[in-house]
Amino acid sequence: MKAHDDLYLDGAWRPAAGRDTIDVVNPADEQVIARVPAGTAEDVDAAVRAARAALPGWAATPPAERAARLGALRDVLVARGEEFAATVTAELGSPLAFSQAVHVGAPVAVAGSYAELAAEYDFEEKVGNSVVHHEPVGVVGAITPWNYPLHQIVAKAAPALAAGCTVVLKPAENTPLTARLFAAAVHEAGLPAGVFNLVTGLGPVAGQALAEHPEVDLVSFTGSTAVGRRIGALAGAAVKRVALELGGKSANVILPSADLAKAVGVGVANVMANSGQTCSAWTRMLVHRDRYDEAVQLAASAAAKYGERIGPVVSARQRDRVRGHIERGTAEGARLVAGGPDAPREKGWFVHPTVFADVTEDMAIAQEEIFGPVLSVLRYEDEEDALRIANGTVYGLAGAVWAAEESEAVAFARRMDTGQVDINGGRFNPLAPFGGYKQSGVGRELGRHGLAEYLQTKSLQF
Ligand code: NAD
Repeated sequence: MKAHDDLYLDGAWRPAAGRDTIDVVNPADEQVIARVPAGTAEDVDAAVRAARAALPGWAATPPAERAARLGALRDVLVARGEEFAATVTAELGSPLAFSQAVHVGAPVAVAGSYAELAAEYDFEEKVGNSVVHHEPVGVVGAITPWNYPLHQIVAKAAPALAAGCTVVLKPAENTPLTARLFAAAVHEAGLPAGVFNLVTGLGPVAGQALAEHPEVDLVSFTGSTAVGRRIGALAGAAVKRVALELGGKSANVILPSADLAKAVGVGVANVMANSGQTCSAWTRMLVHRDRYDEAVQLAASAAAKYGERIGPVVSARQRDRVRGHIERGTAEGARLVAGGPDAPREKGWFVHPTVFADVTEDMAIAQEEIFGPVLSVLRYEDEEDALRIANGTVYGLAGAVWAAEESEAVAFARRMDTGQVDINGGRFNPLAPFGGYKQSGVGRELGRHGLAEYLQTKSLQF
């Protein structure tokens, strides 16, 4: 057990102001593996002041030099990839191969993309008799969740730094060790003091202090819709910029012409990856009534095959929440065809890969985000019915459409109220904007659109 007592402030590891701590627990065996400071408002204030002091210098640093620092950061992420993967596995519980491929692979790609974008982006453009300068918004308060601990940090810090902003990060309570390792990587990459700062701590204390701080110009939050709503209200009251990446309940629409086995197989894998703790997971599978029974059978056997390969969920609280949803699904009349609420192992916060059939739109399992390995299979009558069900939640983060012809899937996808749709199993693209329609959020991350979130314009007329 390693007890840390410091925070990364103004280019160095410095003692936290208070004595409160957070235990970091391995979800696979419930052992306390480390302790980190629960930062206070005083720590947040010190971090914001450091970021404010560093802002003029970093904002004035030529984009090519900012790009070079980001390139160096990407290289450190690669060089320390095994350490990152092991850390994510230790505090999140995901299987090591998944941590290597996804938890480290995706952020490396994103950091690399911003090293390139910082160098290429037109921070100055001519519009008629004006020159428009794209300038950094200022000090960014970044608040991240635990489910993709490194990716969520990089998806905010890399574009913010590329834009010339400075950053204070408050990572999730459950996964602060990955954030500490990221701060060490920033240091190793040679970013100037104060450009990136880390305060570990509790959401309602350190997170809230960061969101409320008058010297923070933009709050970028990823997490639950409930907390996002509060952060949006705070930002609105202070008239400051805010980006919210929130929950989801995405639909995987299998049109009648689709390759059913492939669509169901990929769909189940999508939901079970990261133990279902993926905001964009396609947790509602929509199948035409003529192929419904076959799809349910395929989904149940695909889920059952997961068995021991699935990692635990992040905490006892999360496990209890997920089990509660499973119990409620049964109580509401859905038919359990794989998994269930009982504990698969004696130790660790594991949940069975679970599939429900005969799910109707009005059920809580069809409407609420579960954030665990639970798939609901819904029946539709025709395409219009499928569209109505797909769009029938408060969320709109992601989705999938499968059809024999790509054009058929695209036509359907264009009518979905959602920010991202994978066509016939399309691959992750680190340059494509990611973010939600409706209550899934405000703003976009990744690529050029993600960079633009951290810029504001100034027009000079001639
Ligand atoms: P959460 O909202 O509880 O916590 C997210 C972060 O906010 C944490 O760092 C937490 O400490 C902080 N926080 C909590 N209360 C706060 C407050 N009052 N003021 C300021 N900060 C506060 O969410 P979670 O349980 O950590 O993450 C799961 C949720 O995140 C799910 O709903 C999921 O869909 C969502 N999520 C969305 C995306 C996306 O890109 N849209 C990505 C990942 C996760």
